[in-house]
Amino acid sequence: MAKHKSSFRESVNLMFDRAAATLGMPPGLTAQMKEANAVLQVTFPVRIDGEYRVFKGWRALHSEHRLPAKGGLRFAPKVDQDEVEALSALMSYKCALVDVPFGGSKGGLAIDPREHSEENLELITRRFAQELAERDFLGPSLNVAAPDMGTGTREMAWMADEYRSLYPTDLNALACVTGKPLTQGGVAGRVEATGRGVQYVLREFFRHPKDVERSGLEGDLEGKRIVVQGLGNVGYHAARFLSQEDGARIVGIIERDGFIYDERGLDVDAVAEHLRNSGGVKAYPGVTFEADGVRGLEVDCDILIPAATQGQITKDNADRIRAPLIVEAANGPVTFEADQELVRRGKFILPDLLVNAGGVTVSYFEWVKNVSHMRFGRLDRRLEEQKGLHIVHAIESLTGKDMPAELAAPIMRGADELDLVRSGLDDTMRTGYAALREVLATRDAVVDLRTAAFVVALEKIAQAYQEMGLA
Ligand code: NAD
Repeated sequence: MAKHKSSFRESVNLMFDRAAATLGMPPGLTAQMKEANAVLQVTFPVRIDGEYRVFKGWRALHSEHRLPAKGGLRFAPKVDQDEVEALSALMSYKCALVDVPFGGSKGGLAIDPREHSEENLELITRRFAQELAERDFLGPSLNVAAPDMGTGTREMAWMADEYRSLYPTDLNALACVTGKPLTQGGVAGRVEATGRGVQYVLREFFRHPKDVERSGLEGDLEGKRIVVQGLGNVGYHAARFLSQEDGARIVGIIERDGFIYDERGLDVDAVAEHLRNSGGVKAYPGVTFEADGVRGLEVDCDILIPAATQGQITKDNADRIRAPLIVEAANGPVTFEADQELVRRGKFILPDLLVNAGGVTVSYFEWVKNVSHMRFGRLDRRLEEQKGLHIVHAIESLTGKDMPAELAAPIMRGADELDLVRSGLDDTMRTGYAALREVLATRDAVVDLRTAAFVVALEKIAQAYQEMGLA
């Protein structure tokens, strides 16, 4: 009989159990932190081109120890309840890990967005928003959605508008979703936040020579050969920042239709444009192409960034992964069984709970901006500039010399919203990484960063439940 393959939710639960076993918490408490508190399934019709089409969606509410609960909405043909529950659990742990004061949630709609016109997608998205909102699974105080696979700023704007028209007297209606366009209540830096967070975590990793040595790498990001799977929101931004700002070489990109490789480094923007125009990476000029895309995960490189979807590294291919450092930009790209095999083989894995937390972190900033109804930096930017000017004048009068413009300019610059968002994101990723290192260094039973991430998260959630009096 074929051996049972863990589902996504089972895989997350096994990772949870492995961490919980090191903590000695009451079993009832761990059970509460593991299961989703509620799961909504909706089935709804939409009239498309004169015919009724029926759609099915889910929203899992995993934890409510902090409210609102928060999590993305995924539009994908094969999404199901198991997947949405797994993702909602990861959201709970992720928010706890990076001190984003939200519970965990996640939603999905079983649909292939590429099969629908923009007009029809809008109808479907608005109707899905209604279904969720009417049942309190969407709203600024209880459950806040965000983009995920197959959704982006456009879908978020439709949902926010739909919610606002349902509840016109709700002053905070726009905060029902994050990841909105800047002109519709979004925050600067949200679109690229998850990819930016991937970059910040990697930069932090390379600030710790012992970790770098442990992974088998050396030096910094400059010249590192990176393979990225999935050139969507997360993968594209991560690849772009790492190559254009840190000097890394994106040698391989895996997409749905295959894998392209160029030892000299790919032009990420050019590949992204090719992908947008042709729907794939095939026929991108001047590079090696392989139609069996997952084989791209196995090529020789320094850093592997799975940024597409879950369950990509399994027990079937884990023994062929050659990259010494795996950076989980997607949620759940490595199954529990594969994780054990990779750790056994000495691979260094930066886990999804931290690596892709940049999205929810900046979503949190957006939500705060929405409920405070003010752009970040509006009050203090000019004050900061004046202070900087005074400092420059003081230095010039004390030294009797003019300060060169390239030294004076950064001192005299007040932080705008994007600066503040990036600063908050960088701080979050670095603080999160430090928390994982601390657990790894001080707990004998914890030997990998993923388990460390679960430990940090579970301890915080357990504390919240205990203080509230539920345990
Ligand atoms: P997206 O839809 O923008 O991009 C996904 C990309 O991966 C697409 O280009 C798609 O063609 C490609 N892809 C899908 N399946 C593939 C496969 N089997 N092989 C190769 N390529 C494949 O999605 P996204 O928002 O970038 O999300 C990617 C991952 O990151 C998901 O796991 C998501 O849950 C996670 N994530 C996203 C965010 C966010 O802010 N968008 C935040 C945290 C985590």
